[in-house]
Amino acid sequence: SAEVIYGKQLAEDLRQEMKQEVSELHKQNIFPKLVVIIIGEDPASKSYVKGKQKASEKIGMDSDLIELPEETSEEELLNLIDRFNQDRTVHGILVQLPLPEHIHEQKVIEAIDPSKDVDGFHPINVGKMLTGQDTFYPCTPFGILVMLKRAEIELEGKHVVIIGRSNLVGKPVGQLLLNENATVTHCHSRTKNLRDHTKRADIIIVAAGKPDLITGEDIKEGTVVIDVGVNRVDGQLTGDVEFESASEKASHITPVPKGVGPMTITMLLHNTIKAAKQIHNHQ
Ligand code: NAD
Repeated sequence: SAEVIYGKQLAEDLRQEMKQEVSELHKQNIFPKLVVIIIGEDPASKSYVKGKQKASEKIGMDSDLIELPEETSEEELLNLIDRFNQDRTVHGILVQLPLPEHIHEQKVIEAIDPSKDVDGFHPINVGKMLTGQDTFYPCTPFGILVMLKRAEIELEGKHVVIIGRSNLVGKPVGQLLLNENATVTHCHSRTKNLRDHTKRADIIIVAAGKPDLITGEDIKEGTVVIDVGVNRVDGQLTGDVEFESASEKASHITPVPKGVGPMTITMLLHNTIKAAKQIHNHQ
C-alpha cells in the first residue's frame, strides 16, 4: 500500500529552518513582518487568519492582524492597503478572501504592491509565474510543489491530471508543474468521462471540494495522489479522495488533515521572508 506523505511533518521541519533564518535576519536589523487583513465574521476565514498569525509568531516573525467590520467600504480598504504599501516596516500584505459582496475582489488584489503580495494573486506575479520567472507563487500550489520535490517524486515528463481550475489552486498548480516539464491535464466540473483522464495520470491532484470524488477505481496502480480538498462531513475533516481504496493502489498519497493544509501557511511564511529580504536588498 501507498507511502503516506505527511505535509504536517515537512511543514514543521521547514518552519524550524525558517525560525533560524528569521533570527539571522534580526541580527542584520531586518524584521520580516506580515499584515493580515480580514473583513467580516466568517468563522472559517477567522480561523484561517488566526492560524497564519500563530504560525508567524512561532517562527519569531512579526505579524499584525487587522480585523475590520463587514460594512467596511472598498475605499477604506484600498486606503489601508495603500498605507501598508508605503510602510517600510511591512513586507507582506494579505487580504483574506472571500470579501463581502460590496467590495470588488480583483480591485483589492491589484491594489497590493506586487513586491508585498505574499499570496501571489496579483496579475503581475501570476504573469511572472506563467512566464517561468521567479516570484511569489500562490501558497497552496507552491506547498504542493515543495511536497512533491521533497518526496523525490519525478515531475519531468510525467502526466499530471489536476481536478479543478480555480485561480486559487487548480490553475496555478498546473502552471507550476508545467514549469517543471510535466505534461498537465486540467479537469473540471464540465469535463466528460472524468475517469478516462484520471486513469491515465501518473500524478493526480484533486482540488474540487467534493468528498470522495476520487476512489481507488479511478486511478491506475502506482499513481501519486495529492488530495487538496478540505470538506467537513458530519463534523469531521475529509478530503476529496477516498483514502482507504486509493491508498491500496497509489504509490504515494497525502492524508486530510495533516497533508497539504499545513504546507499552505508554511509557504506564506516563506514568501514573507523572501519579501523582507528582497525589499531590504533594494534599499
Ligand atoms: P473552487 O470551488 O473554487 O474550485 C473547485 C474546482 O473543482 C472547480 O474548478 C470545478 O470545476 C472543479 N470541480 C467541482 N466539482 C467537480 C467534479 N464533480 N468533477 C470535476 N471537477 C469538479 O475551490 P478551490 O478554491 O479551488 O478549492 C478546492 C478545494 O481545495 C476545496 O475543498 C478547498 O477547501 C480546498 N483548499 C484547500 C487548501 C489547503 O490549504 N489545503 C487551500 C485552498 C483550497
